[in-house]
Amino acid sequence: MPYMIYSYSRLSLYEECPYHFYKRYVEKREEPITEPLALGSAVHKAIELILKGMEKEEALFTAEMDSPLPLNSLELRTLVEKAPILQGEGLKEGVEIEKYFNLPLSSNPNAPHIQGFIDLFQLIFGTIEFTDWKTNRVKYKPTETKQLPLYAWALSKIYKIKEITGTLHFLRFFKNARERMTFSEEDMENARKWAETTANEIENKLLLLELGEPADKLFPFKPNKNCKNCPYAAECLLKNEKYFLGVC
Ligand code: SF4
Repeated sequence: MPYMIYSYSRLSLYEECPYHFYKRYVEKREEPITEPLALGSAVHKAIELILKGMEKEEALFTAEMDSPLPLNSLELRTLVEKAPILQGEGLKEGVEIEKYFNLPLSSNPNAPHIQGFIDLFQLIFGTIEFTDWKTNRVKYKPTETKQLPLYAWALSKIYKIKEITGTLHFLRFFKNARERMTFSEEDMENARKWAETTANEIENKLLLLELGEPADKLFPFKPNKNCKNCPYAAECLLKNEKYFLGVC
């Protein structure tokens, strides 16, 4: 029986820094909600409500009121208004909002499971289109992370459909806001293999942890471009003072 259910964000955090992953998902430490995170959630919430039929003004108000942090109302509005959606569009046949999936990463009975939420899913004449809303300040291609091909793999598995197109929609951009890609079977299989290999590696480490191996050895710190946003940066710096003094 696997120790945990995985998601794209869990796996990519482990890949980026095993120590940060350990703190968040094994020790289950509470992490502070940052303003960008709160804004991203509110944007997703407002879009979801509009797609479900709510008036835009009410959806913006509800999303802002539900936010755990005060938000910039104008920024929230600007981002939501950039989403190419129609009120109530999510109620149409073949369309789903915040579509949840949870499935094993292989036919092995002990295979770890992957779960995820797809912002907007559409079944169109035997093909699938799905969209992920992004509030990032920097754009990237669908091939630059495993998120979209992994979601495409999950959808192909559930619906037995091979033609699956995913879109990253960057809401801060006016021009070329969409990065759209139809995934080949190879793209999807590579993403599945990456997820399975990474999840199995974590599972093995969790077993060793239970057997008494030290956490620091199993889940080492790995400096990366997101260290400046890491809630454990001070703790990590103190623990690894020699390393950081050496590299600075
Ligand atoms: S500060 Fe960087 S290296 Fe240290 S735990 Fe956080 S992400 Fe990992």
